[in-house]
Amino acid sequence: MLTLDQVRDRSAARLVGLHPVLAAGAKALIQQSYARGVLIVITQGLRTIAEQNALYAQGRSKPGPIVTNAKGGTSYHNYGLAFDFALLLPDGNGISWDINRDGDKDKIADWQEVVKVAKQLGLEWGGDWTSFKDYSHLQMTFGLTTNQLRAGKRPTTDQVNEALKRMTGEDDIVNKDVKVSITLNGSKLTDGVLDTGITYVPVRVLAEALGAKVTYDAVSKTVNVVKE
Ligand SMILES: [Zn+2]
Repeated sequence: MLTLDQVRDRSAARLVGLHPVLAAGAKALIQQSYARGVLIVITQGLRTIAEQNALYAQGRSKPGPIVTNAKGGTSYHNYGLAFDFALLLPDGNGISWDINRDGDKDKIADWQEVVKVAKQLGLEWGGDWTSFKDYSHLQMTFGLTTNQLRAGKRPTTDQVNEALKRMTGEDDIVNKDVKVSITLNGSKLTDGVLDTGITYVPVRVLAEALGAKVTYDAVSKTVNVVKE
């Protein structure tokens, strides 16, 4: 098994020129994927407008398969706001683009595990696009179009700081087992646990406080909440 540092080193050169938020995001993605037993490598980071135009020509005016729908200036890569990943094979050199590969044998495709982490970090996945699916692609737009970026508009300091918090794990939402207080109309009701974006609360305490009755059916293992 490669060490995390060895895995990180494979991507270091591709992080150069990325927006600080995306660089932090790529690092967090590498680390959190590694923790799940999935090794990844960043295959693309910042792409200049000339490089983007050359890529756009491929499959159109130049030979090869079409790999992008974005002309120079119209990809978030051109502003350091996107990066691409692939799976890193255990030998530390080979790369896999197989989105069904399950290298850690946990019955979940490695690719999906990475995408799940990426989304928790607030990244948008190209595999969710309807017109042209780009399974390697992750980006953060801050609500800006590429036209606005081309015109010089940039994310606000607040947007950057908020996203950085998320990427660096200082945001409770992406952490596991954070104890939280639950209040009802401003009064403390009970304690709950926030685990990667989902808040777990004692159901009886919350339901009864909201005027509902709670019963448990041990046979079907069902909690019934009834509100008259
Ligand atoms: Zn991409």
